[in-house]
Amino acid sequence: MRNTLSLPRNALCSVTGAQVWEGDGTFEKIIKAAPEQRTEMMSEEERRKRELEKLRECVERCKRCPLHAMRKNVVVGEGSAVAELMMIGEAPGYNEDLQGRPFVGKAGKVLDSLLQSIGLDRASVYICNVLKCRPPKNREPSKHEIAQCTPFLDEQISIIKPRIIATLGNYSMQYIFSKYNIPISKISEIHGSVYKVSTLEGSIFIVPLYHPAVAVYNIKMMDVLLEDFKVIQMIMMNNKNRLISAKKSIK
Ligand code: SF4
Repeated sequence: MRNTLSLPRNALCSVTGAQVWEGDGTFEKIIKAAPEQRTEMMSEEERRKRELEKLRECVERCKRCPLHAMRKNVVVGEGSAVAELMMIGEAPGYNEDLQGRPFVGKAGKVLDSLLQSIGLDRASVYICNVLKCRPPKNREPSKHEIAQCTPFLDEQISIIKPRIIATLGNYSMQYIFSKYNIPISKISEIHGSVYKVSTLEGSIFIVPLYHPAVAVYNIKMMDVLLEDFKVIQMIMMNNKNRLISAKKSIK
């Protein structure tokens, strides 16, 4: 059930620093308002859920780029707050904008069956996008929109602390590769490869994948996606040998 934390008005978003709605107080104050003792008593999952909920409220009021004026709903993300695997797509489409949920159209059905193929479901992973609002007519995200919106994605990564990040499509790959200083290549050359990066909070495996929509337009791509998803399963099973035998080297 959604947390119904009431927010002070005129707050600044702690992620972007921007004023996101009218009234008194700041987003920082909202976070600090939670009694420390109570926070300590919460389980890690509950703590993360609260942080994600606060982030959602921040995104819902965001007007940092022109896309806010056209959205029906923000699409922040959904899934487990303690997910080992985080999947990042590009931006909401028509159905996602209507429902406020990521990957609910045809590409979402493809994603569901890909997850199912490796024994996972939506509830066990976290799914989100680079942009939280739909670009008109599903056009490509602009540099400005990506720059304004990705602090929210950074915050999601920092809250969830995934062990594996799977990028879905070009824009997601480009942003995550830049964030972790990985040289950018063509997705056609590196899909299904594994990149291991070290962060202050431990290692993260990054797996660039095609966007599931490719299989909507070209059914033959489903085999490629199915094969690439097996790599995620191998990482989850800590099966380095199978990874090497699958010719998917860890870079
Ligand atoms: S796309 Fe991102 S930055 Fe732009 S208005 Fe929506 S939430 Fe804000």
